[in-house]
Amino acid sequence: MLLSVPNLSVVMHRRIISFDLDGTLINWDFAEALWFRGMSEEYAKRWGLDLREAMDEVKRRYDAVGMERLEWYDIEYWWKEFDLPGSWRELAERCRHAVGTYPEVHEVLGWLRERCDEMIVVTNGCRELSEIELEQSGIGRYVDRLFSVTSDFRTVKKDGSVYRRILAAIGASPDEVVHVGDNWIFDYLAPREAGIRAFFLDREGRSSGDGVVGDLREFANVVASELFRDGEDASGAAFRRGEPAGE
Ligand SMILES: [Mg+2]
Repeated sequence: MLLSVPNLSVVMHRRIISFDLDGTLINWDFAEALWFRGMSEEYAKRWGLDLREAMDEVKRRYDAVGMERLEWYDIEYWWKEFDLPGSWRELAERCRHAVGTYPEVHEVLGWLRERCDEMIVVTNGCRELSEIELEQSGIGRYVDRLFSVTSDFRTVKKDGSVYRRILAAIGASPDEVVHVGDNWIFDYLAPREAGIRAFFLDREGRSSGDGVVGDLREFANVVASELFRDGEDASGAAFRRGEPAGE
């Protein structure tokens, strides 16, 4: 027997956009200044090497751990591992001026902010550094919630389980969330495994096909045309270059 009940999944459907942080919203200048240049300078001073030698050694040590392991993201771990004096926080403060976004980020985030219910950031980066990035870049104002999965869940977002935990934390179903990011595994395969519509951001333009976008303007256009069609933004809402944020 068929019951006539309101379709709550339509009534309650929210629009939630989830962004990766580094390489997606924030460019690599801060990471370069902190993780390579800054850490290598500290390492060179501590161990009596020249900067070039220190940079090679620091990079070799990072690579030996690899980005699928928790420690790779943990600056506290590296500070101890390299036996550096003082606090990494002083270095982070000295490098904070290098935080910057990709050119379209403020415009697109402002535009999307007006059209969705919630915007979250899901990063492998550790919480304290991610907070510096959000604050220094000014994009924190668009973001409802930051998930540092390495700090908050002690894991790396390499499979669907971490995205399922995030869905539970925000009380959302997979079809309410769209994720975008620049890592094929962390930002495309992993959220898809959790049933989340995901987009791979390829700023180099090396990939193509369904689910690949070249920048966040293209992402905003796809989101507007394919996913936001059920409301008043149904037509004419496509993101246009130069359109003031929030219009
Ligand atoms: Mg990234």
